[in-house]
Amino acid sequence: MAVPRSLVLAALAALALLAGLPAATPVGGAALPLAGRVVGIDPGHNGDNYTDPSYINHLIWNGRENEACDTTGTETDSGYTEARFNFNVATYLAADLRALGARVVLTRTSNGGVGPCVNTRAQIIDRAHANVAVDIHADGGPADGRGFAVLEPVADGPNDHVIAASRAFGRDVIGRFRAVTGMPVSDYDGTDGVAPRDNLAGLNLTTVPKILIECGNMRNATDAALLVSGSFQRRAAQALTQAIVDYLR
Ligand code: ZN
Repeated sequence: MAVPRSLVLAALAALALLAGLPAATPVGGAALPLAGRVVGIDPGHNGDNYTDPSYINHLIWNGRENEACDTTGTETDSGYTEARFNFNVATYLAADLRALGARVVLTRTSNGGVGPCVNTRAQIIDRAHANVAVDIHADGGPADGRGFAVLEPVADGPNDHVIAASRAFGRDVIGRFRAVTGMPVSDYDGTDGVAPRDNLAGLNLTTVPKILIECGNMRNATDAALLVSGSFQRRAAQALTQAIVDYLR
């Protein structure tokens, strides 16, 4: 539906006049909780990465060492790809954040391409001066392991000034993700759901507060059944939205 905003504002002003009240804060304006905020979203991998191995495997500098441009990501036993999961959650998340007034910067806008490389993804979000950012993934862990993990940056120079902020955001993500999605924290990665990582471009090169979330383990049957469902993907986005609002408040 597309009622022009000017009409809505005029109607509100008229109502306020009739009631003898000052005009209300505009609907959709400065009152939105994320108005003026910039959020970076990196949906890990890309749906066609498998078509160009020489590009995907070429080495980039991740701030500490060489790392492959990207990988294809993992998939469930039934062949549901991580790239698709990541993109779906990112799409729901972007919509939720925009509805709250945020400007969203995505590192890819479809699931039908190759790349960009992980260092470029970090640069896209850094250059946008995002107030906070999240890299969305699902893990390819041991088949008997369950749960989600939050990967956090380790100080290496460029990211020094966002370590504490990223840790604080990570706490918000863990609380909301567990409560909203029902996914338990990982029983094989990190401690209480937190895993510091110093070998990922997305965390080494970040100059904005950022975490990477492994939303569950695609190689575990119980987690996989959740990860492929649209309702879980929407809840994952809602959990991240609430964590971002918590963090930026
Ligand atoms: Zn991944």
